[in-house]
Amino acid sequence: MKSILSIILLVVAFFAALPFIGNKTTTPEVKHKLDADGNFILHEWVPSHTGKGADWDYNLKPVQVSERVWCFFGAMEMPTKDNAGDMSNSCYIKGDDAWIAWDSGPSYIFASQAYAEMKKIADMPVKAVIISHEHDDHWLGNSYYKEVHHATIYGPSVINENYYGPRHIDGKDYPGMQTRMIKALYQNAIRGTTLPRVDKSFEETTKLNISGVNMEYVKVGYAHSEEDWFLYLPDDKVVLVADVVMNGRVTSNRDGIVIGQINALNAIKSRDWEHLVPGHGFITDKTAADESVQYFTLMKDRVLEKMDDGITADFITKEVTLDEFKDKDLYWVLSAGNVFRSYEELEMFDEDDLIDYSAEGADTDTSGEDSETQEDAA
Ligand SMILES: [Zn+2]
Repeated sequence: MKSILSIILLVVAFFAALPFIGNKTTTPEVKHKLDADGNFILHEWVPSHTGKGADWDYNLKPVQVSERVWCFFGAMEMPTKDNAGDMSNSCYIKGDDAWIAWDSGPSYIFASQAYAEMKKIADMPVKAVIISHEHDDHWLGNSYYKEVHHATIYGPSVINENYYGPRHIDGKDYPGMQTRMIKALYQNAIRGTTLPRVDKSFEETTKLNISGVNMEYVKVGYAHSEEDWFLYLPDDKVVLVADVVMNGRVTSNRDGIVIGQINALNAIKSRDWEHLVPGHGFITDKTAADESVQYFTLMKDRVLEKMDDGITADFITKEVTLDEFKDKDLYWVLSAGNVFRSYEELEMFDEDDLIDYSAEGADTDTSGEDSETQEDAA
């Protein structure tokens, strides 16, 4: 009886599978079963719910850092529903007739509420947004500045390579990518947020003058992420560095490299500044980068030393701890992971990978070439 049943099942399964046998490509009649690249959609996207409740109130208060620079400082936490992604720092620079935004925060609503605060200080549009790196707590506000202010977005080219927004192809709408922030936040914080493309990217360090503000957009390359940049304002003696510097908390080096971080910190040190705004953290005086310098230097030296002693990767997080930082926020969440990942990188360590910015004749450009000057490029 059992064997008859299994034969019947096999026959049924065979006929059910028949349309697929020898059929390498399925050509469904219904067009919407194919995605933009012509691949069969197994799990169809449904439009996200935007809800009807009031917008999340980020309760933003700008802090003046220098004569022309104000910043919004985020919580010392990982992104959560409770902080609605407000856990990184973003700034505004006051130009002659426009604002320039440095990093745009975690959502459309965040950016619109930040602008509402800045408008009270000076009623000017946002002409340009300059982005430090691809992590989505730093640039998902771009959609607000694009849609409402038609701002020019300057940023690393990897943003356009690694992220895509909603697309309309052949009469059909395809949703944009679901980034960490889009997945994590409540709909009343993230709704309206899309992923617009970066308008202008540069190969190397570039001097800009936007609305009368002289800026140097400095490429530090692979450091905290695949492509990091910082913004130096020479006339203001301010440097906005985003996540290559954090203070009061331990960094997440999940996408970064130790040697790239050390080089980035040295590039920052080689500029003349009075105020530094980190990507996360509240210290903005001349000591602002000290914790990051200490963290990466100690990690590099300790991991290399233990490697010399023959410690294998499996035991490195037992052998190397950064006890000096154990009272800092996120130490227990992130530090062991940073040490573990550094092992693989430092196995290939070559002293020549460290760039000496203090060496005589060293060019302050990471490119070592003359930087391009873009007068009022926006
Ligand atoms: Zn980051």
